Amino acid sequence: MDCLFCKIIEGSIPSTKVYESDNVLAFKDISPAAPVHILIIPKKHIATMNDVTAEDDAVMAEIFAAARQIAKEQGIAESGYRLINNVNSDGGQVVYHLHIHLLGGEKLGPLLAAN
Ligand code: AMP
Ligand code: ZN
Repeated sequence: MDCLFCKIIEGSIPSTKVYESDNVLAFKDISPAAPVHILIIPKKHIATMNDVTAEDDAVMAEIFAAARQIAKEQGIAESGYRLINNVNSDGGQVVYHLHIHLLGGEKLGPLLAAN
C-alpha cells in the first residue's frame, strides 16, 4: 500500500520514534509546528477518523494513553498541550493514515478565532 505512515511503521522510511508498542507508534513530526510535535498512529492502516470502528476501541484507547505518557515524558503534561486530529479535506488532512498530533512546549495560539 502506498502509505507514508505504513512505510514509517515498516521502517522503509526513517523516523524518530518516541513510543512503540505492538499496536501503536509515535514519532516526531518532520516539520514541527511547536517545540514538541509528535504524531501518534495506529500500526493498523486506518485512513481517517471516519474509518474507525468498534473493533478499534482498544487501539484508540491506547493512542490516548500513549499521548498522556509522552506528554509526561516530554515534560509538558503540567504546562499543557494540544491533541489534534485532522479529518479529510476541510480538516486539513494530508496523510491518509489516522494520526493524532501532540503539540506543546510553548503557549499555543487560540485554536478558534472569534469570527
Ligand atoms: P495532517 O495534515 O494532519 O495529515 O498531518 C500530516 C503531518 O505529517 C504533517 O504535520 C507533516 O509535517 C507530517 N509528516 C509528513 N511526512 C513526515 C515524515 N516523513 N515524518 C514525520 N512526519 C511527517
Ligand atoms: Zn497506512
